[in-house]
Amino acid sequence: MKRTIAGLLLVFGCGAASAQHAPHEHGVAELRVAVAGNTMQIEFESPLDNLVGFEHAPRTDAERQSLAAAGAALKSVERVVSVPAAAGCAVVSTQLEQPFAEHEGRGHDDGHAEMAVTHVLQCAKPAALDRLEIRLFALYPRLRQIRAERASPRGQTASTLTAEQRMLDL
Ligand SMILES: [Zn+2]
Repeated sequence: MKRTIAGLLLVFGCGAASAQHAPHEHGVAELRVAVAGNTMQIEFESPLDNLVGFEHAPRTDAERQSLAAAGAALKSVERVVSVPAAAGCAVVSTQLEQPFAEHEGRGHDDGHAEMAVTHVLQCAKPAALDRLEIRLFALYPRLRQIRAERASPRGQTASTLTAEQRMLDL
């Protein structure tokens, strides 16, 4: 299990947490999906602005609530993507990186901030993993585009997803 995950991360060079990033672009987020054996890893990383409309530390209760709501949404894999039921997947781990939390800040000195989540799922029938529907566009209208990368037994590709084109072939 551990080896599988390390292998998945290697596919993309490194995990979202440690990646060196070019300045992010508002309206655009990144999604990385890797399928290997029975394991599927889904990483989503977005400028905070796409999710809550600001990137500064929350100043009001309303801002604190939007931040908490965005974190709760990303932590629920069903709200991020729709996974084919036939694949029989179950979440085995979820890691949220939330800015302005006590221990894990992703706020930057340049006034930008990001939120990221990694879900790891175990699937009874990975052969049934044909495509994922991205659900975040409906939730976050400020999110215009997702740059997606996928690695699966069928190969490795990059694609651009939008509200109109929200299916990611696996
Ligand atoms: Zn920003």
